[in-house]
Amino acid sequence: LFVDAPLSEGAELILPREQAHYLVNVMRREAGAPVRVFNGRDGEWQTKVAEASRKGASLQVETRLREQTGVPPLRLCFAPVKKARTDFIVEKATELGAACIQPVITRRTQSERVRTDRLLALATEAAEQTERLCLPEMSEPVSLERLLACWPDGERLIFCDEAGDGEGAWGGSQGRARPLADMLQGETDPSGPWTILIGPEGGFDDAERTHLRSLPFVRAVTLGPRILRADTAAVAALTLWQAALGD
Ligand code: SAM
Repeated sequence: LFVDAPLSEGAELILPREQAHYLVNVMRREAGAPVRVFNGRDGEWQTKVAEASRKGASLQVETRLREQTGVPPLRLCFAPVKKARTDFIVEKATELGAACIQPVITRRTQSERVRTDRLLALATEAAEQTERLCLPEMSEPVSLERLLACWPDGERLIFCDEAGDGEGAWGGSQGRARPLADMLQGETDPSGPWTILIGPEGGFDDAERTHLRSLPFVRAVTLGPRILRADTAAVAALTLWQAALGD
């Protein structure tokens, strides 16, 4: 369970109403039952239910089970798509270890309204389920232009380009996109930080693609010859990155 409170031996945690409801009515935990908790800073702790009633619930912190672990140097930037698919992207990105999730508004993005509080709640459930010890940072949407203009020093951008391996436009001096795993293997220092960028349902437009490919920190990659849905592409790219560089 994620708790927004400091964790130390003997501390008492009074759970907010929704979490108390989840613990008592959904998980059916009674007084004395064990519950593992984390807060993103102090590792994972064993607690036991001190009080569980209609009025609320509290936990008594016992011992530390795991030291706090770091997060992979991996951020996912994605153009928001339809609600259910955006939810899926956030859930899977959390399971696959993204440290930060950043919605990006591109020219063809159709679903610009994103409720980051809702997405953070989804990410919290996914983090609990997958037993990672911290939540991903959930950033407010930003335009692609601004994202690129304020690019952090030393970070590289994996531009997932569905058109990158086809005939035509990208065959010339700018070169074809490489398979993601090959690209990572070819980097002299693959340690990161890395950002993966996934476009909207309609893909990136030519101006965005040209701009992206002109930037020194951008690595254009292909995820294969088929055009994947944005949510599938996000899962595929995160999985390939984890397979190559995850620990
Ligand atoms: N129309 C589909 C949909 O509704 O989801 C396809 C969307 S695809 C254009 C969305 C994004 O997924 C692309 O902008 C790109 O970032 C990524 N993508 C999809 N297939 C890819 C591939 N084979 N290689 C690299 N990126 C890919």
